[in-house]
Amino acid sequence: MMRLPNFIYRAPRTIREAADFLAAVPDTTMLVAGGTDLLPNMKRRQQTPATLVGLRQIAELKAITSGPSTGLRAGLTIGAGATLADLVRDPRVRRAYAGLWQAAAQVATPHLRNMGTIGGNLCLDTRCNYYDQNYEWRKAIDFCMKKDGQTCWVATSSPKCLAVSSTDTAPALIALGASVTLVSADETRTLPVADLYRNDGIHYLTRRPTEIVASIHLPPLEGWRSTYWKLRRRGAFDFPVLSIAAAVKLARDGTVEDARIVLGAVASRPMEAPEANRSLVGQPLTDAAIAHASQLAAQPARPMDNTDFALVWRKRVTRDFVTYALRELRGDDVRELSRGIARQELLGLQ
Ligand SMILES: Cc1cc2nc3c(=O)[nH]c(=O)nc-3n(C[C@H](O)[C@H](O)[C@H](O)COP(=O)(O)OP(=O)(O)OC[C@H]3O[C@@H](n4cnc5c(N)ncnc54)[C@H](O)[C@@H]3O)c2cc1C
Ligand code: SF4
Repeated sequence: MMRLPNFIYRAPRTIREAADFLAAVPDTTMLVAGGTDLLPNMKRRQQTPATLVGLRQIAELKAITSGPSTGLRAGLTIGAGATLADLVRDPRVRRAYAGLWQAAAQVATPHLRNMGTIGGNLCLDTRCNYYDQNYEWRKAIDFCMKKDGQTCWVATSSPKCLAVSSTDTAPALIALGASVTLVSADETRTLPVADLYRNDGIHYLTRRPTEIVASIHLPPLEGWRSTYWKLRRRGAFDFPVLSIAAAVKLARDGTVEDARIVLGAVASRPMEAPEANRSLVGQPLTDAAIAHASQLAAQPARPMDNTDFALVWRKRVTRDFVTYALRELRGDDVRELSRGIARQELLGLQ
């Protein structure tokens, strides 16, 4: 049995108090929300903080609010401590931000969604077959660059770690144009969710060690449609080995006014596809436009041989999934295409 190492546990009641605990010794302190990612990592000694600052008792982190106006005219603000189950239960998320709803509903299992938070999901550690192993396994290969070693076993000449961004909600939030607010003892700043990430498997977040992700804001999205497609081995639960988040704003005549396609699990950060987006604007979602955009969107995907499935096949499926996502947004019945990837149920629930 793997045991947790010893650590000091702090249980602040306010964001301010949590930020003060973090500022005291940022190098050896970590935040813990649901603990569904961090605690298994600590058992495997991938992360070894001396102090944990628990966020579960901070009520102000849990709210999901749509502002004083009626409907979602001001958008939706989600506290970082809201659980994924809270999001899945929220009719506003389901109605107005379908891509986020689908992404959250496909994270892990019901038990883990009851514990796991959106803030923890955004800050989820990057994953790699050579890293997500117990201490003895990693020691047997002399560890790797991400923790305790020198070499990257995926690409031995690589100067940086290529571990994979595996968060489901981040690509969906980026496609929806969401922003994130970070709070430290000295400062509060807000940035697009896309700017929270770096393409580096070790330093994958631009979040400073003293900062807490406090909330996520979704803008009002009148006229937009969104969706999320996830490739994984087990339909019941599994991390994504490829995901496509797509959102389009359609005019009344079906012309694309704006488009955002984001690829997950193909690099150390979610990858946007600006050329594909540009190619769609100003025309209807015809088969030809979709095929061209899918080709362009798949280009930045550089899957490495460090997750599940053959990488050449994953690269090919990227193009197929972008096609399916755009066809779904056009209004096609994609239930047949979804067969076998555990998505039928999600489509049926919409
Ligand atoms: C079997 C299994 C399957 C899983 N499948 C999936 C999956 O399919 N898709 C997926 O995306 N995830 C999956 N996960 C990972 C995890 O359950 C989710 O990502 C969950 O949302 C993490 O949230 P948490 O609150 O538990 O994070 P924690 O474990 O508490 O924290 C995760 C990281 O985020 C940091 N953190 C947490 N909150 C904040 C904050 N407010 N500000 C700054 N940093 C913060 C922590 O310091 C830590 O580094 C799986 C986990 C398991 C065990
Ligand atoms: S990509 Fe390389 S350095 Fe990063 S976790 Fe995998 S083996 Fe380690």
